[in-house]
Amino acid sequence: MSHRYRLSISTRLTLWYGLTLAVLLSLFAVFCYASFHRGLHRDFDFHLAHETRVLLPRVETGPGGPSPGDMDQLESVAIRTGGALGTYVRLFDAAGRERYRSPNFEQQGPLPPLRPGAEKTRGLTWDGLPARSAYTPLFHDGQPIGWMEVTGFEWSLHQELHRLGETLALGILLSLALALGGGYLLARRALRPVAALTLSASRIEARALGARLPTDFGVHDELTDLAETFNGMLARIEASVERERRFTMNAAHELMTPVATLRSEAEVALRRERSADAYRGALTNVLGLTAEMEAVVGAMLALARSEGANQNAAEHVDLGTLVCRHAERFRARAQERGIAFSVEAPAGIAVLGTPVTLGMVAENLVDNAIKYTPPGGRVRVEVRDEGTRVTLVVEDTGIGFPADAADRLFDRFYRADHAAVQAEQGNGLGLAITYAIVEQMGGRLTAHSAGEGLGSRFEAQMPKA
Ligand code: ADP
Repeated sequence: MSHRYRLSISTRLTLWYGLTLAVLLSLFAVFCYASFHRGLHRDFDFHLAHETRVLLPRVETGPGGPSPGDMDQLESVAIRTGGALGTYVRLFDAAGRERYRSPNFEQQGPLPPLRPGAEKTRGLTWDGLPARSAYTPLFHDGQPIGWMEVTGFEWSLHQELHRLGETLALGILLSLALALGGGYLLARRALRPVAALTLSASRIEARALGARLPTDFGVHDELTDLAETFNGMLARIEASVERERRFTMNAAHELMTPVATLRSEAEVALRRERSADAYRGALTNVLGLTAEMEAVVGAMLALARSEGANQNAAEHVDLGTLVCRHAERFRARAQERGIAFSVEAPAGIAVLGTPVTLGMVAENLVDNAIKYTPPGGRVRVEVRDEGTRVTLVVEDTGIGFPADAADRLFDRFYRADHAAVQAEQGNGLGLAITYAIVEQMGGRLTAHSAGEGLGSRFEAQMPKA
């Protein structure tokens, strides 16, 4: 167990989610605020421009500078009203001297004279409130003679902006709180099956592998897939543990019979004095029994080795040549038993494997075909090039097997309950070894038969080198 800081997936999900949301909402709010702000200024500039347009025709211009003309006679309420609703007008000559100010200046504090720069409008603070001025240059005979300044308070607009800022901030905080709370609950809810899985998994023991993880969480999601994958793995482990158990039992049983016979053979021989011939007979029996045990132990070792075989030790093996060599060893026996024997294995078809194990594959299959084919039958061995694969086919016209036995043939120690099988020497490990070797090479061993007495066909399909 590591001692790193423990942070649950739901918390982490919620934090990431919250962070993303906060960034997105803030960006949105900043954008909203900025565009609203810009919009307000633009609207106010329109207002100032409008006021300027109304007042400008009244301004009289001469070479000495501007004068208000009949501006004061104007009924305009705006230039008489003070405070936020007023429009404040000043005229300056080219030297920046003030030539006129509208009556409503009386009601305000002093406004410093500002010489306009390049800009036509500018924001300022007047009497502690946000205001904005628009400047219009004045000309006489094409000569600049001063400028008109029109000012208004932007105060109520700024208040609105302020309110918008507050609303946005509050909205963001509220949505974040809601989203974080909701997100956490949702994440917890979505991950609840994980706790159930952890609990069930911790209860499964090597001795009782029958238990399975729950897969019914209401919906089918990634966790269901995970649980099902685990269950598949459990089933395979259970099957393999069961196979190991059966193997051990079968192996013990298989060795027990010759050991018991061996013991009674020795006991009987020692019970009284015997002739040298009798001892020789007993010892011959003992030798036969130990040979039988040796075969079983040898086959078990071969099986263990082929299952743990290292595919890296593989080399290019000419399967055609190899099968020919190993199969030919059985020709004499086939002839002896009156079986027609043919081998078609062209040289030059290579697979990746080891000659020893591939030899075992060929010999096991051919040996079985001859063992389980009555006199007068036929055994045919063929190595076929199938493009990316190579197939070794061993076909006979022998005792065959029922279709439902096809898979069991490869089980360790399986021997058919058939008189012809029981009459033959064997321990039921040959096909299990063959199967393991072929599978180790990335190939597949299959058995086919049309039924009992109708012959059988074994195919070892391997990737071509
Ligand atoms: P063994 O031949 O020592 O019994 P195997 O593992 O080689 O063990 O074969 C397992 C069983 O498969 C055999 O006992 C037999 O019942 C069946 N079998 C194998 N080869 C053939 C075949 N060519 N025809 C019919 N049955 C077969």
